[in-house]
Amino acid sequence: MLGGGTGGLNAAAELARLTKGAHRAVLVDRATTSYECVYNLGVMTGGVGDARDVEREISMAAGEDVEFVNAEVTRIDPEGMLVETSRGTLRGERMVVALGAELAPELVPGFKDAAFDVYEREGAIRLGKAIRDFDGGKIAIVVARTPFKCPAAPYEAAFLIDWLLRERGTRDSVRLDVYTPEWQPMLAAGDEVGGKLVEIMDGRKIGYHTEHTVLKVDAGSRRLLFETDEADYDLLVGVPPHVAPKAVREAGLTDSTGWVPVNPLTLETRHPGVFAIGDVASIRLHNGLFLPMAGVFALQEGLVVAANIAAETGVGSPTGYTGEGYCYVEVGYGKAAFGSGNFYASPAPKVTLQPPSEEHKRAKDEFAAMVLRSAKPPAHGR
Ligand SMILES: Cc1cc2nc3c(=O)[nH]c(=O)nc-3n(C[C@H](O)[C@H](O)[C@H](O)COP(=O)(O)OP(=O)(O)OC[C@H]3O[C@@H](n4cnc5c(N)ncnc54)[C@H](O)[C@@H]3O)c2cc1C
Repeated sequence: MLGGGTGGLNAAAELARLTKGAHRAVLVDRATTSYECVYNLGVMTGGVGDARDVEREISMAAGEDVEFVNAEVTRIDPEGMLVETSRGTLRGERMVVALGAELAPELVPGFKDAAFDVYEREGAIRLGKAIRDFDGGKIAIVVARTPFKCPAAPYEAAFLIDWLLRERGTRDSVRLDVYTPEWQPMLAAGDEVGGKLVEIMDGRKIGYHTEHTVLKVDAGSRRLLFETDEADYDLLVGVPPHVAPKAVREAGLTDSTGWVPVNPLTLETRHPGVFAIGDVASIRLHNGLFLPMAGVFALQEGLVVAANIAAETGVGSPTGYTGEGYCYVEVGYGKAAFGSGNFYASPAPKVTLQPPSEEHKRAKDEFAAMVLRSAKPPAHGR
């Protein structure tokens, strides 16, 4: 099991639970603790007091039947079922690649130095403080490239920043804009969900600029250069480009999308016995778009892979991933909207969005706590 984040950790723990330690389950991660970025927006608003409270010790969370190796994965040989790490070579009979997506701000000149990166814990902490100190001017939220983790997150960031400014009484002196290469929010969820989020942005006077791909950020003049036009900012909030981890790219596991194509039901790559789950995996949907990068998918895919590997050893029966998924879209004021549905539906995903409520916000908090406890996610949200 390569990667002890949202997907890999749960898959390893589930496999060990199902096979009751009869097989050697090895989990490799370069970190000893896993921090859940589901909490980043709470870190930004101050809702999560101390970011260290939302970390978990990987070896503890995986359980005693999982052998944890704290090492960097340096080379993957899917044909030879072999992995080189900074602490030696591992050979196995099955391999699960769950190394997530790497953030690559350097792909956009100027981005790294100029933007508060809300996808990194430190960036979220600094951004929260900057917003509390911001008295007026232009705040730009820029999604650099697609795909990116949690398609709702930039929009949640916009709603929460709007809310924080209103609470402080400074919203009237701030112009708040979102720039994105997408043609609507949460692309894979479809027009209805996207349209409802645009309505909320309109109602909150958040400017929305679609099909904007940022080419360069000029921190000196505080200017954003897009393919077609330019814009000014005073405070820049960024979602950096994402890439598959180097070891995955060099293993020849990726295709022209830059991610690892897998069987949508079994998560198996084109190499028999080698699986990829979570953000690193790429699943093309019936409408030609891709399954979003989200923890809820990583968790469920991990459970499917664990069940199928266990079934091969005579425990339980094989299963397939159904494409069900859900997400909570925080809008501030203690409320969240709730999107859910089936992303494998044909000819296009069938996803609906329930309006913001305090109940959905409570459910979001429960979901985040469940991820942190490495518990099984409910299949359909609440
Ligand atoms: C701001 C924000 C909010 C979000 N909110 C939600 C939400 O509300 N709901 C939701 O479903 N999802 C949400 N997500 C998305 C979710 O966090 C990710 O989709 C999920 O964590 C992906 O899980 P994963 O297992 O694929 O990767 P990760 O959890 O990123 O795990 C990858 C692991 O691999 C390890 N690793 C990487 N490279 C190496 C290497 N070479 N050697 C050793 N170890 C390595 C890393 O240390 C890490 O532990 C959010 C994301 C962000 C950024």
